[in-house]
Amino acid sequence: MDAAEVKVLRGRVLSFRDAPQGLDDARSYRYIEDGAVVVGGGRILMVGPFDARAAAPHEVIDHSGKLIVPGLIDPHIHFPQVQVIGSYAASLLEWLDTYTFVEEQRFADDAHATRIASAFFDELVRNGTTTVAAYCTVHPQSVDAFFAEAARRDMLVVGGKVMMDRNAPAALCDTPQSGYDESRRLIETWHGRGRAHYAITPRFAITSSPAQMEMAEALARDYPDLHIQTHVDENLEEVALARELYPNLPDYLGIYERYHLLGPKTLLGHCIHLTHRECEVLAETRSVAVWCPTSNRFIGSGLFDHDRLEAHGARIGVATDVGGGTSFSMLRTLGEGYKVLQLRGQRLDPLRSFYMMTLGNARAMSLDARIGTIEAGKDADLVVLDARATPQMALRMEVVDSLANELFLLLTCGDDRAVVETYVAGQAMKSALQQQAEGEA
Ligand SMILES: [Zn+2]
Repeated sequence: MDAAEVKVLRGRVLSFRDAPQGLDDARSYRYIEDGAVVVGGGRILMVGPFDARAAAPHEVIDHSGKLIVPGLIDPHIHFPQVQVIGSYAASLLEWLDTYTFVEEQRFADDAHATRIASAFFDELVRNGTTTVAAYCTVHPQSVDAFFAEAARRDMLVVGGKVMMDRNAPAALCDTPQSGYDESRRLIETWHGRGRAHYAITPRFAITSSPAQMEMAEALARDYPDLHIQTHVDENLEEVALARELYPNLPDYLGIYERYHLLGPKTLLGHCIHLTHRECEVLAETRSVAVWCPTSNRFIGSGLFDHDRLEAHGARIGVATDVGGGTSFSMLRTLGEGYKVLQLRGQRLDPLRSFYMMTLGNARAMSLDARIGTIEAGKDADLVVLDARATPQMALRMEVVDSLANELFLLLTCGDDRAVVETYVAGQAMKSALQQQAEGEA
């Protein structure tokens, strides 16, 4: 490696080893007050206390006083819904019909798909999110636009073409055969190319017929190492319709179970209205419940029962679900998650929140061998955070006396303004965006 390519990032380094069991669980994380993360070739080469002599031959980027944490991970997001955020509707199914299914039809146009993909990744970078699991639309060109844009930025992403063959406008429907054929072509084109991972993506049981479910099952059999992503038990009206459409199965999750779509790489958005049996199936199959707090509150779906799922031994991720979700910010998402659990009489401490949006989500996505921690050998996806980002936060910080309270302030009041820099594979991306915007102004 060229020595000029090696950079030393100086700052307060925080990285988790495991899920914290309370605020006094110091073994669950590593924190270095004056730390250095040495990056090169897209990887983390070394982590430790900052040493001026050792750093001297290299470029040092000084983030002293700021927190350096692993890049934030969002395991459930809809890239075509950037222009749907904050659309007013009474219920999930009305919201889908009135806004989302209308907006998604525009992705038949390559130019639109390309423009929105670019805006989508810009927004992720501004918010410190370095990895997502994303739904594209039914159109293969939306998937091409998504992965092409991710590759241009060298981002580790999971994504897939939505499969849907009923209960949606004709312009948004594929068929069991075309959904299968197009998914195969996209898998062959994109999966494993650079940092791209393909996810088999039947939108949800309501928009896939049994014949399409069989085709999704066939894809999962053909490509057993792929992620699978879908939605389950989000909203009571949706649950009732799903069960009506598959009357001979025990429950909503039972539909995906019947078609062998559950397993350790299956990401299930929402999981709010689970029966006891569904909780057990979720845990037994090692499938992942993906909690989307801002979306669940916005659409009025319900309050996620974190402790119940944890007691069942189920795996849990946490995500934005933009555009049902109202913010790209994982800080804001976990801040809202705290409030949801308060209403449930459950606790979510700030260490656990930071664990969840880094190593926790990396584990939920089975990507923890590459991302989610700051350790030598891992990919150099990092975020630099400033708890003094706004005048109000700076004033509050004057009296904050612990790391946990600083993290909690970031979750409660922070958003993209608290993200100083986002490094993707060692490259500074957020400042590059700002420079580009200034150049254009
Ligand atoms: Zn969703």
